[in-house]
Amino acid sequence: MRARSGSGGDGPLPRFAAAFPFTAIVGQERLKRALVLNAVNPRIGGVLIRGERGTAKSTAARALAALLPEIDVVRACAFGCHPDQPRTWCTQCHERAEHAGGLPRTHRRTPFVDLPVSATEDRVVGTLDIERAIQEGERHFEPGVLAASNRGVLYVDEVNLLDDHVVDLLLDAAATGVNVVEREGVSFRHPARFILIGTMNPEEGDLRPQLLDRFGLCVDIHSIHEPRARMLIMERNLAYESDPEGFCEEWQAKEQALSAEIRAARRLLPEARHTPSDLRTIAAVMSELGVDGHRPDLVVLKASLAQASLQGRPFLVEQDILLAAELALPHRLRRHPLTEAETSLGDLSARLGEACAQDGAEGGEEIGSDRIEVGGKKKDS
Ligand SMILES: [Zn+2]
Repeated sequence: MRARSGSGGDGPLPRFAAAFPFTAIVGQERLKRALVLNAVNPRIGGVLIRGERGTAKSTAARALAALLPEIDVVRACAFGCHPDQPRTWCTQCHERAEHAGGLPRTHRRTPFVDLPVSATEDRVVGTLDIERAIQEGERHFEPGVLAASNRGVLYVDEVNLLDDHVVDLLLDAAATGVNVVEREGVSFRHPARFILIGTMNPEEGDLRPQLLDRFGLCVDIHSIHEPRARMLIMERNLAYESDPEGFCEEWQAKEQALSAEIRAARRLLPEARHTPSDLRTIAAVMSELGVDGHRPDLVVLKASLAQASLQGRPFLVEQDILLAAELALPHRLRRHPLTEAETSLGDLSARLGEACAQDGAEGGEEIGSDRIEVGGKKKDS
């Protein structure tokens, strides 16, 4: 595991070695939107990114973690417990608080954890040392990947090559936000809320449909064919390679602006409300498209509310719902013949286009540096 954050270290962590800025990624609007919505509400259930090698998959995941705000944590807690949310605390923090009366706090960067494809169950969930518990009467828990990624980003490259059982564990934790390890009557629990980002190259094998469905959102990404955009990709990559620090500095204002938008959306989200009519719209869209099961409807609702919060609105408009559906459906229409799935997604984009035109808005499509700047002028998409 290449954990980018110390577990339980005190004080702010050193900055990432100049990760490529999120807002400098050219195009890939759906991908950026899916990631940002999960940053606003990790309970949406993560993002599965499907696409060939050489697209911006891992760059975008790393960049997301780098722009997320610092988090308040309990000092010296290996699980990054939130000092103000005792209900979610790990077993150890509960015990410490009982003895000490209160817990010291500190802050640190949002962790980014990169899970290797060879990860075992123990490595993921952590291990309880039963021998020590019996001999010394003391609970000893060795934290795993779920502990390191609490309140951060857990990145799983080539998730389709990971052991099915391990994927199951990750998705369980992502859904419940807790990791409980039990052995011979001894148990340990800790919070495990993270943004799960999985990538896969569909040419190298598929995920079981049961696992697919449990990823909240999914984005299929392709290489960009628009020549001006390709030029821009080359220019930015060259500029970054020759002077990473300088390049990041140039983009810092945009990064900070997006980071502030995410922070504001997180604050607004608990106040965001849906109406019975919003639920009717979601149910109608999903049923029209022939989506099976009810989990997708809830994913769309959560993602719509996150989308509305990003726009600074505590209520939904149709466009929020369509934008959310566009991200919640690509991996859920597979059970139908491909052409039918494409037609359905095509219909959805047509409706999205209409909704945007009616609102006279830009479609909420633009995140960060979305517009392609040509010759110093901004080109509206
Ligand atoms: Zn704790």
